Amino acid sequence: MVDWRLFEPLFNYARKKSMWIVAFCTGCGGIEMPPLMTSRYDLERFGMMPNPAPRMADLFLITGYVTPKTLKRIIITYEMQPDPKYVMAHGSCPLNGGPYWDSYNAIKHLDKYIPVDVVIAGCMPRPEAVMDGINKMMEMIENGTADGWKRYKENYEWYKKNQDELFGEGWREREARRWLPWLMDKKKE
Ligand code: SF4
Repeated sequence: MVDWRLFEPLFNYARKKSMWIVAFCTGCGGIEMPPLMTSRYDLERFGMMPNPAPRMADLFLITGYVTPKTLKRIIITYEMQPDPKYVMAHGSCPLNGGPYWDSYNAIKHLDKYIPVDVVIAGCMPRPEAVMDGINKMMEMIENGTADGWKRYKENYEWYKKNQDELFGEGWREREARRWLPWLMDKKKE
């Protein structure tokens, strides 16, 4: 039987060169994406491209402030992504609330709810800083230290406790009932 772990360095090399990004722009940092994806910074030369389907994306870019309402979608989207998956947060907002540090409606520590592999500080970070973060992410993927997806599984109870404290237990089901009634109908069939 083949021990696929032996091929991990090769897989990691390929993963770092073909990151597909979940196209889900959460805050002001989303405005940095067009220059990054177009000819000036040209992220495609690193094999990166936006993808509307989380199930086919490796990299989740959180591009700025996160409200509790957005956080629910972020968690659900993150959980839909296949492993291994990576999270990069733009700007001060996801890290500490940034200018909204005392707002009732801004999440101050995104990494309490999902693991964050790379944080790019600044308000808003310039494309050069984002490029720097992407290089860091590629390095981490290659050497196997971009392991937030493993930490999420290993510490799922802790993440879930934080999520439930914010939204109340059973929030996933409530969301599903609210947004996907057809899915609930199918379950009953
Ligand atoms: S860090 Fe600044 S630029 Fe980024 S989302 Fe927050 S307020 Fe906007």
